Amino acid sequence: MRFEILERDGLARNGVLEIDGVRHPTPAIARIAWEGLPPTTPGLRLSPRDAAGKGDIKILQSGFAPGAGRPDLDGAIDPWYRGSPYAEARPEEGFAVLDNIAKLLLDSPRFVEAVKEAKSGPGLLKPLYCSLAGMPHRLALLAYCGVDVFDSLPLIMASETGRYLTSTGPLEYSALKDLPCTCEACRSGARGEEALLRHNFATAEAELRLVSHKISTGSLRELVESRVRADPWLVQDLRLMDMDARGLQEMHAPIKGAAFHAGSKESLLRPEIVRWQTRLRERYRRPEGASVLLLIPCSAKKPYSLSQSHMRFRDAIFSSGRGPLVHEVIVTSPLGLVPRELEMFYPAKDYDIPVTGHWDRDEQKLAQDMVSWLVGTQKYDLVISHLGDEREAVADVLGDHVDTSGGEPGSRASLDRLEQTLKERCPQPREQGRAGRVFQDLRSVCRFQFGRSGDEMCEGAQAYGRWPFVKVARDGSQLGMLTADRGMVSLTLNGAHALARTGDYCVEIEDFRPKGNLFAVGVEGASPEIRIGDDVAVVHKGEVRAVGVARMCADELRLAERGEAVHVRHAA
Ligand SMILES: [Zn+2]
Repeated sequence: MRFEILERDGLARNGVLEIDGVRHPTPAIARIAWEGLPPTTPGLRLSPRDAAGKGDIKILQSGFAPGAGRPDLDGAIDPWYRGSPYAEARPEEGFAVLDNIAKLLLDSPRFVEAVKEAKSGPGLLKPLYCSLAGMPHRLALLAYCGVDVFDSLPLIMASETGRYLTSTGPLEYSALKDLPCTCEACRSGARGEEALLRHNFATAEAELRLVSHKISTGSLRELVESRVRADPWLVQDLRLMDMDARGLQEMHAPIKGAAFHAGSKESLLRPEIVRWQTRLRERYRRPEGASVLLLIPCSAKKPYSLSQSHMRFRDAIFSSGRGPLVHEVIVTSPLGLVPRELEMFYPAKDYDIPVTGHWDRDEQKLAQDMVSWLVGTQKYDLVISHLGDEREAVADVLGDHVDTSGGEPGSRASLDRLEQTLKERCPQPREQGRAGRVFQDLRSVCRFQFGRSGDEMCEGAQAYGRWPFVKVARDGSQLGMLTADRGMVSLTLNGAHALARTGDYCVEIEDFRPKGNLFAVGVEGASPEIRIGDDVAVVHKGEVRAVGVARMCADELRLAERGEAVHVRHAA
C-alpha cells in the first residue's frame, strides 16, 4: 500500500491511496463488502481478508461482525449500542486510525487529543482512517481534522433506521412528503430501505466531492464552519480544535493561503488569524522613526490603501508634510491590528467580514487588547485616534491621545482636523525621511516574516524602488524584494545567507547541489518555524545551496520521504 499526498489544506488533503496497484483518490468512502449487506458500486471497498478483492482495504476479522441478526430497535442503531451488529471496522495495516470515533464525537476533548495524536509523528504521513462517523454533514469537519478514508457503515445504519441524510444533517425519511433531492434514487419515486440507502450514498459522495474541491482551493474551513451548524457537538469539536490543537493547526496552515469570509464566531479562531496576532506580539517592532501612531478604521476594499477612505486619510497625512513620522495602524476585526506596512501580508488583504456598524463584545475586547499592547510596547511620541465605530471601545486603553475623527473619520472636518493636528503637534521630518522610511517599513516586513533573521538581514542595507515594488540590497548586492501578490519578501541567495547564519527558516539537506526543485528524499532536517509558502534557505552544514519556497511545513519536511519539499528559486 502506498499513500501519496497531492494537495493540502491545513490538516486536510487530497491524495491517492494505492492498494495492489489499484489507485483510489482520497478523501474516500470505503464501501463495506460483506454478505448480507446491500450490493456496492465500484470504488474503494472494505473487505475481510478471506473475501478481499484486488485493491480492497482488508479489515481485521475481529473488527467487524455483521449478520448476527439485526436487533429489534425502535430508535437509532448506534454502533456503541450493546445490541448493535456493527462494530468499528479497522484496517489491517498501513493506516493511522481514529479509534473509538463514535465515542470521541461525543467527547470533544478526547476527540481533539485523538486528532493530535494521529497527526504527530510518522502517523502524519499515513492515510487516516475513521470508521462509523462519516455522515455527510460530518465529512467536512472530519476531513478538516485530517481524515482521509471513511466507511459506509453510518450510511447503512442511517438507512436501516429511516434517516434521510443531507449535508446539513439527517431528516426523518417517513416525514418527507417530497424528497428534497434529485439523485437518481430520489427521482425514481421509489421508497424503501434500498432507495434510502442509494440516496444516502449519493449524498455522501456528493458532499465528499465538494470537500475535495474545497481542499483543492484551500477553502475547506469555510465549508466546515457552515456544516458544523447541523450539530452542536460538531461546533464544540471545532471550537476545541481551535483552542486545544491550535499549535497543530498553525503548523499546517500555509503562510499565504486563499481569501476567506470570516462570517462566524469560529472564524475568529482560524489558525491564520491567531498566528497573525501571535506574530505581532512576538515579532513586531514599529518602523524606526515612525513615532506618531495614527489609528484608522479598516475598509472593505483590500489592500486598504486602495480604498477611497484610506486615500483620503493618506491625502491628509501627505498634506501635513509629516508623512515619514506617521505610523498608520488599522484597527479591524478579526485580525485586531494591521500596521500599514503589513497590509499585503496574508491574511490582511484576504479576508472579508460582515459589517453592521456594531462591534460585539469579543471584537471590542480583541481591539482593546491589541491596541493596549501596541501603545504599551511601541513607545510613540503622540497617539492619534481617527476611528469610526470602534473609537469608543479603544479610547479607554489609549491613555493620553488626540481624537481627530469625532467618530466620523471620512468627513471633511475630521480630515482637516487630522492634517492640522499633525502640523501642530509634530516636528518637520528630516530631509531623507521618506526614503529612510521605505527601508524601515520593509525591515518591519522582514521582521514579521523571518523574525530576528529578517531584522539581521537588513542590518546595514538599503531599500530601492517605490512601495510596494521595493528591493533591499547591501553593498550593491540584492538580498530580496517585496512581491505584492505574496505580500512577502522573496529572497535571493545573498538574502538566504542571513537565514543560514541564524539557522532559522533553514532546510538541511545531504551533501548535494539541488538541480531544479528539492524533493523530500534529500532533506535531513528543517527548522520548526517553516510553514508551507515560506521562503527558506536550503543549506548543507551552514552552506547555502539554494533558496526557494517551502511546499511542506516543518513537521512534514522532517518526516516525508517523497514529494516536493522546496520549490527552488535560485540554486547556488
Ligand atoms: Zn437523493
